[in-house]
Amino acid sequence: MLTAWFLDQEGCDVTLHNNPEIQAASGIAAGLINPITGKRFAKTWMADALFPFANATYESIQQTIGQTFFQPINIMRLADTISQVNDWEARAQNDAFKPYIGTHAISTEIIGKLAESKGVFNIKGGAKINTAILLKGIKDYFEQKNKLVNEAFSTTTYRENERIIYCNGTAIHSVEGLSGIPVIPVKGHYLVCSIPDLNAKEVIQGAVSIIPQEDGLYRIGSTYQWEFAHNESEQMQIDILKQNLEKTIRVPYTIEDVMVGIRPTSDDRRPILGEHPTHSNVYILNGFGTKGYSLAPYFAKQLVDYIVRDTPIEKEVNISRFLNANYHIRSL
Ligand SMILES: Cc1cc2nc3c(=O)[nH]c(=O)nc-3n(C[C@H](O)[C@H](O)[C@H](O)COP(=O)(O)OP(=O)(O)OC[C@H]3O[C@@H](n4cnc5c(N)ncnc54)[C@H](O)[C@@H]3O)c2cc1C
Repeated sequence: MLTAWFLDQEGCDVTLHNNPEIQAASGIAAGLINPITGKRFAKTWMADALFPFANATYESIQQTIGQTFFQPINIMRLADTISQVNDWEARAQNDAFKPYIGTHAISTEIIGKLAESKGVFNIKGGAKINTAILLKGIKDYFEQKNKLVNEAFSTTTYRENERIIYCNGTAIHSVEGLSGIPVIPVKGHYLVCSIPDLNAKEVIQGAVSIIPQEDGLYRIGSTYQWEFAHNESEQMQIDILKQNLEKTIRVPYTIEDVMVGIRPTSDDRRPILGEHPTHSNVYILNGFGTKGYSLAPYFAKQLVDYIVRDTPIEKEVNISRFLNANYHIRSL
């Protein structure tokens, strides 16, 4: 949808096709933007470029659609080993990490409700997106222009000289000629919980991420499954989340809902964008994996710049990295 947004901003005549039958990952996502992730506090790839651009994009969309969905939020990381404490302290001295090292302290009242840890650290520069407002806002914007088609796109409706930009997540495999593009589906679950005694305004990251919502509930996630038989929720994944939540908090909770979605990832964990090597006027933006809300603004803009101005697409994300010697997309 961001590709359509940027093309529209360039003055292009854009029609946004959206298949409401598909459970899009974007609508399921917990909507967290986090510059420091992983057990060893790794800086998100390209964070210094991605985050300011994402913030500016979301702020500009908010202004245009007249609704608020983007909220900067403190992220509190719990360290459960001394080695993690040491890692954090090393990061805090490193200039590359300094923009993301915060000084916000969580209240002692909340600390008392969390499992014991070796330290609690503040990541700054994170944000939370209300994905429902953002996605509806963009769809409404195109609908008002009479440029939203809320049904499955098929090439039978294609008119000559039109450009088709497939930003269709894991549905890419069902498009003739695109099935070889190495987008790997990774299933994920998160819980929506009521934790009446917690009262946290910050994201808390221990064995799970606990993300406070405007309605007073919390999103607790998430799981990763590279192999799965169906797209429905699975008790084993719910149990993993419950166990990890109980390792992170020591106050009661109730599960209000379970969310399940399929992330479109890539085998080298980088987005996939560019022009199809053999189908002219066909473009692709995909492979956002676990971080669509951080990555998509920057790379949707990069694809739009390529289409409109012929500016280059970075090698690391260019679909050309998957081409074999015969200029064909290598299969998975
Ligand atoms: C459980 C879970 C939690 C997540 N949490 C986060 C998070 O906190 N932060 C974060 O940044 N990312 C998160 N993600 C990842 C994020 O959801 C993805 O990176 C991102 O949504 C991928 O966006 P996309 O537009 O490429 O694909 P999708 O969101 O899957 O969108 C594909 C679109 O293509 C459309 N489409 C497909 N086929 C057709 C057709 N034939 N005709 C018309 N339209 C079609 C669909 O309608 C849909 O709108 C999470 C994912 C999951 C599953």
